[in-house]
Amino acid sequence: MQGTAYKRKAFLVLAALTAITVTAAGFADLKDLKPGFNLFSSQQDIELGRQAAAEVAQKQPIVHNSQVKNYLTSLVQRLARSPHAGTEFPFSVQAISDNNINAFALPGGPLFIYTGLITLADNEAQLAGVLAHEMSHIRLRHGTSQASKANLFQLPLMLAGGLGEGLIGQLTQLGIGLGTGSVLLKMSRTAESQADYNGAQIMAEAGYNPIEMAQLFEKLEAKEGQAQSAQFLSDHPNPGNRIKAVQEEIQQMPRRSYTTDTRQFARIKDVVTHLPQPAQLRGQYNDGHAAPPAPNARPSKQSKQYQGRAFTFDYPDNWQTFGDPQSAMVTIAPSDGIVRDRNGKLSIGYGAIVSYYFPQSDEIQLRRDTDKLRTDTDDLVRQMQQANPEMRAGELRSLKVNDYSALVTTLNASSPFQGETEIDQLVTVLRPEGLWYLVFISPQSEYRDIRPVFDQMLRSVRFSK
Ligand SMILES: [Zn+2]
Repeated sequence: MQGTAYKRKAFLVLAALTAITVTAAGFADLKDLKPGFNLFSSQQDIELGRQAAAEVAQKQPIVHNSQVKNYLTSLVQRLARSPHAGTEFPFSVQAISDNNINAFALPGGPLFIYTGLITLADNEAQLAGVLAHEMSHIRLRHGTSQASKANLFQLPLMLAGGLGEGLIGQLTQLGIGLGTGSVLLKMSRTAESQADYNGAQIMAEAGYNPIEMAQLFEKLEAKEGQAQSAQFLSDHPNPGNRIKAVQEEIQQMPRRSYTTDTRQFARIKDVVTHLPQPAQLRGQYNDGHAAPPAPNARPSKQSKQYQGRAFTFDYPDNWQTFGDPQSAMVTIAPSDGIVRDRNGKLSIGYGAIVSYYFPQSDEIQLRRDTDKLRTDTDDLVRQMQQANPEMRAGELRSLKVNDYSALVTTLNASSPFQGETEIDQLVTVLRPEGLWYLVFISPQSEYRDIRPVFDQMLRSVRFSK
């Protein structure tokens, strides 16, 4: 008899528990986390992140492949529609070409994900999980919250000033840069569990199963001790029992059907796997990162006119001119066509340079103009080869530029872009001022697409009479 009573009681308890589970199956019991203590304003988070992101983009090999860029942006946009992503911060995302497994968020919106982490993910939901986790660090303002707690007495004064070098420069003076162990990037275990918790909510609201985020982190933990994953694990320390914590949270969420994978994810993973690898021979850039990959800086169809000294020509209007129009030379390039090398020296890997060359030889009047064009051009090519010993001259052809005889010399050189060789088209024309030249520069992979644009620029050249 007693046994039956006990069973009945147990049944009632079970029924009661079930009832509780049913009524709790909503967001009511889920916590809505809020940012903690912070000396910075949200606007300062945004400003700081903007400056820091520019610094990252300058030093790290950003992936410019438009398929990868568009895909990551669409994922972040989907996640950003979740109420738990908040509306305060403008999210953006860039991939960094690096086989290490890492990702980080800067205050105020910018996200960076290494290609090594994209290839580690088994499906789209796992990739979305990392992004949702990082977006949660941004929404919960973990970076500036930690900086606020660092007891930097100069901080309020510096932020009150807020001028001059910009926020990131001022913070760097206080030892809060973007380097290893920066309080902006190195999260506490509490921040980690909060980012998991809030990230799971973002995922669920965007239609991804939150468990995939925890599974990716477990997969990453399994690589503990390997250098590849060291940075991520040091910046995002395991708060413990990630899978269990997310499972418990999912219990409180309404049932939904989730997306796990898409064909697009598989395609992007393939693109990322086949991106050019960091070149071994070009050495390291100033912060230990390899040369950037070639930009996908397709010129726009619209053109603008460049009015130089004694010449004009049209160029794509999304390219920029560098140089004073009052001088006789100009560099025209897309903004990421110019690369800073390991010594901080700028070089152009994609774009055009226009200038004059003054030949050393004095046999000026002895030759007919066509011969002179040829010898001056040879002279210029030799000068260029002295500056760049790897440069090789190839095919030579003649054409007219604004009705003047011109020579086109094809040159091959090493490109400042990762794993690329460079094709240069050197166009030379004799002018009263000297040997006018225009060099079109392009990484080999972009050459075929850019060539019609170069030809069009060349047809637009006009010399003043
Ligand atoms: Zn984290």
